[in-house]
Amino acid sequence: MSKEQEKYTTCDRCGARILEKSALEVDGLTLCGDCVVKQTKKEVAQAAKIATERKAEQYEAQRKALSTQRNKRALIALVVTLLVFAAAQWFMAQNKPQPVQTASIDFNKDLDSSYSLIVVALDKYVATNGKLPPSLNELLNGYIPYPVATAFHHFKYKRVSNDSYELEIAAKKITTLKTEGNNESAANK
Ligand SMILES: [Zn+2]
Repeated sequence: MSKEQEKYTTCDRCGARILEKSALEVDGLTLCGDCVVKQTKKEVAQAAKIATERKAEQYEAQRKALSTQRNKRALIALVVTLLVFAAAQWFMAQNKPQPVQTASIDFNKDLDSSYSLIVVALDKYVATNGKLPPSLNELLNGYIPYPVATAFHHFKYKRVSNDSYELEIAAKKITTLKTEGNNESAANK
């Protein structure tokens, strides 16, 4: 190989004089070996950087997706828990024993109710004792609930015979009753 045959060129990047056969064509540029190595290193570094960033992005996206899923699951779990709790509360409310309805009759005002109870009590009294009581107060010996007795003063009771009586509310005469089950002849014995 003669010296005349050796052809030289210049590196487009660093301006170094290099043998034409040692020059490398990269992206339309003529480069020396050093510049090609530098360029390659730079490209590798850039590619690595891009790959790292892409991985980071993917990781972030996956993390977000997972987080969203987890949040959804957590929300569903919360809703389910609340529904179960509400259902339990409702069920317990349904099965809770209701307080016993207390009788709220004012026997001094609802004289019709008092009247009916006195009539029933007189029947019971006759059934047990064979004759009517001399006064309504006798009914307090187990024949009538005490609250009704507080209304006795609204009534006029008169025993006509052993099995017949008159019961009036206040001044107004309501009715004259004869207890059932007994007749005059039996009572007069
Ligand atoms: Zn160069």
